[in-house]
Amino acid sequence: MQEYPRYLYRAPFVVTGNGPVIADGAVLTENGLVAAVGSYAELKDVDAQLEEYDGHVITSPLVNCHAHLELSYLAGLTGDSPKPGDMTGWIRGLLAARAESPEPEIVHDAARMGLARLYAGGCRAVVDIGNLQESSLLGEGFKTEVLFFLELLGLCGPSEEAALATLAGIGSEVCCTPHAPYSAGPALIRALKKRAGNNLFPMHVAESAQEIEFLRTGRGPFADFLAERGVEVASFAPPGMGAVRYLESLGVLDKQTLCVHGVHVEDEEIALLALHGAAVCLCPGSNRFMGVGRAPVHKMRAQGVPLVLGTDSLASNPQLNLWREMQVLREEHPDLPPEAVFAMASINGARLLGLENRLGRIAPGVSSSLLAVRCPAKTEAEVLEYLTLAGTEIRLEWLE
Ligand SMILES: [Zn+2]
Repeated sequence: MQEYPRYLYRAPFVVTGNGPVIADGAVLTENGLVAAVGSYAELKDVDAQLEEYDGHVITSPLVNCHAHLELSYLAGLTGDSPKPGDMTGWIRGLLAARAESPEPEIVHDAARMGLARLYAGGCRAVVDIGNLQESSLLGEGFKTEVLFFLELLGLCGPSEEAALATLAGIGSEVCCTPHAPYSAGPALIRALKKRAGNNLFPMHVAESAQEIEFLRTGRGPFADFLAERGVEVASFAPPGMGAVRYLESLGVLDKQTLCVHGVHVEDEEIALLALHGAAVCLCPGSNRFMGVGRAPVHKMRAQGVPLVLGTDSLASNPQLNLWREMQVLREEHPDLPPEAVFAMASINGARLLGLENRLGRIAPGVSSSLLAVRCPAKTEAEVLEYLTLAGTEIRLEWLE
């Protein structure tokens, strides 16, 4: 007996993600997998239960390459916008809120709500960064796969040594990652990269001008903030260069490295990203909220840097919604081709996570967990325009 019946889903348009939009398209599914995709005329005679989705477009589900579900309980922090670009001011607020030590159930429930929101928005996989090992279990029972990374911090002296000692005690089944070049020292970053091996290595990189000032000079708001936190900043030798060039000098830039944000990078650093095949996770919604600036997306695309999208957390983004990330990106870079933006939210992320055989496009053999998205488009060209500009107006349902 079949686990699932055969279904033929028909919609005015199908976005396969690896070819042109198919008008009057259809997707045949069997046993949890896509068996065929094409025009309805080609597939209409197959023996399968027909499901008509008038007024919809069928797409692959989305992939969120950067989130912190643990911070979902701090959604109130997005009530007031921070002073534009004042990263340290925002971190102070975040740490003050975390110091109030909420009940673990509140943190856990909010994280699960955050994950439920991602699922409701059509997200099938999420790279989640957290500070609690138990967060690796957040995805249990959810269809949205959670790829969890435990984040370590320790810039220099005793704080870096403590982080290295902690790392030595963490089981190999837990993926670990450094927070950022201003909060994780060179020995810690190298140790984490070595441990990651051929696995994904995500890290916040070049998010704010304050970060770059600190890396170049060892001074500025980050130096003050770290000193305030008891870090012996004076023992940190600033590399005297931008964040990407610094990571290259540490030998940690390669195809597994995922630079999250990548806002303040110079042309020469974009070339380094391209040279090493390192990817950038754009977080346009969070960047807009923080007022840190816009990533040089056109230059990155021109050099062939792999680009993916992330929401970041509810503490720096009022929405956990990849459709809104696509919308913000297009508002800020109106010349970007809509198909490239959609790819950033789907196939590019699936490829980066090594999930492209199951997710991110519609082709025989991928998972039949697809989306039917309500869409008023009348022509093929209008479909991706709508999908990448509708933001929170998007209404969808999951097929299977
Ligand atoms: Zn983040």
